[in-house]
Amino acid sequence: MSDIAIIGGGAAGAALFGALISRDTPDCVHWLTGGALPVGRGVAYGTPHDHHLLNVRAAGMGLYLDPHEDFVGYSARHRPGTMPTDFLPRRLFGEYIQSQLDQRIRSADQQGRRFAILPSMAASIKHTHNGYQIALDNGDTVTAKQVVLALGALSPRPLRTISKRALASGAYVLDPWSLALRPVHPRRLIVIGTGLTAIDTLISASIRWPDIELVAVSRHGLLPFVHPVLPVDPFPLQAELNARLLACDGPAAVLGEIRRTFREHQDMDWRSVIDGMRPINTRLWQAFTPRQRKQFLRHVRWVWESSRHRLAPQSAEIIQQLRDEGRLQIYAARVLDVDGEGPLDVTVRSRANQIVTTLQSDLVVQATGLDTAVAFAEHPMLSVLLHEGLAVPDPLQLGVLAQSDGRLINAAGEIQHGLYAIGSLLRGNLWECTAMPEIRSTADTLATRLTLPRMAKEASFTLSA
Ligand SMILES: Cc1cc2nc3c(=O)[nH]c(=O)nc-3n(C[C@H](O)[C@H](O)[C@H](O)COP(=O)(O)OP(=O)(O)OC[C@H]3O[C@@H](n4cnc5c(N)ncnc54)[C@H](O)[C@@H]3O)c2cc1C
Repeated sequence: MSDIAIIGGGAAGAALFGALISRDTPDCVHWLTGGALPVGRGVAYGTPHDHHLLNVRAAGMGLYLDPHEDFVGYSARHRPGTMPTDFLPRRLFGEYIQSQLDQRIRSADQQGRRFAILPSMAASIKHTHNGYQIALDNGDTVTAKQVVLALGALSPRPLRTISKRALASGAYVLDPWSLALRPVHPRRLIVIGTGLTAIDTLISASIRWPDIELVAVSRHGLLPFVHPVLPVDPFPLQAELNARLLACDGPAAVLGEIRRTFREHQDMDWRSVIDGMRPINTRLWQAFTPRQRKQFLRHVRWVWESSRHRLAPQSAEIIQQLRDEGRLQIYAARVLDVDGEGPLDVTVRSRANQIVTTLQSDLVVQATGLDTAVAFAEHPMLSVLLHEGLAVPDPLQLGVLAQSDGRLINAAGEIQHGLYAIGSLLRGNLWECTAMPEIRSTADTLATRLTLPRMAKEASFTLSA
């Protein structure tokens, strides 16, 4: 038995599954998709709404590395008139994922490859003398020599300031994507957060309930920066800048170097500099000491995230229009308390003048971003992995401890051979690993590793460990 199991039915699982079944391997590939349909889309690309846009241009998106299977070609065929520079609906990307998967499944079938797609949740994983035994929620088991966790973001946990009463009221929404299912027509809706998910939530609510009053609250009250309509030219001195950044000692020095570059080159678009850093972001993060990583998370994260993960220009226009019409207020304030049985009382302290105010709202939506704190997650399979010592939380709660190649570190501090992760669980090691450009190339590299003959794999492990 030398089978491979992928746990998780989102885009990362799809990219890896497609990459594996296109390779000539005697192993059977089991894909445990968790039951979510349509498979491969996950939360990001499962949206039915055309106003939920990609925040990467079409040319930067794809599922595999093969240029013949790119998203630009697909979107031109299915949505004539689209350009590689467009920010297209995430729904279209979801359809593309499905069509790419279907093609690779058909071709793998024709070539007699061995694979199984199981719409089950993995409930637990046990390490055996010969690999891993995965118990499924339907009582079945799957055994595999190599297992990859492609679990995506964890279910959001309520902020500490939310009372039990508010949580039980049904007026506090932990999952922003469930808003579309709400039958009630709220007069006012407060979103906690002003990032990309908050923007999607505000736009959806404004379309569904045109007369609704919208409020968004976050500590800085800052929206993500906006992409230019057309791509900007690369910064001509990027290579020299990246070399200087890699020589910096910690996030303060990195930030200082970037600021100096902005000051000295005021004629260039700052966004090209941030984009040009993408190839070195993981190395920068890995060079930080644990203390410097903490400093980054505390002082730099919000400005970095809003510069790096920018908003599509069309979404920014809608938000500006809502603000101009007085339908959307954005507050820079700390949420001190959310209480009540619906409507809820949301007490905030203004960042500008420290004045404490209580706002009433029919619905309050938590849109505070990616949760990767595995130690606190209510995820049965992860709990078992942590309990058994097969996985360990990252000390900053950025997923699990792992090697750069995705292999998990166990409680004894050793490499847990054959057990890998891909995507957001690896934030602690890689930081830059949650978007499709990184996911698709990681999936390709991982597929090559997983299908290497055993001897070659051991040699390559030694080289990369
Ligand atoms: C709203 C949103 C928009 C985004 N937009 C972009 C974009 O425009 N461009 C870009 O490059 N990136 C974008 N991203 C980032 C990234 O591309 C996506 O998050 C990507 O879809 C991540 O895929 P994933 O498979 O890692 O996670 P997910 O899509 O979250 O999938 C994980 C899957 O694992 C399943 N699962 C969990 N536990 C188990 C278990 N025990 N057994 C079986 N299955 C399990 C879950 O049910 C889920 O279906 C976006 C992310 C979000 C959230």
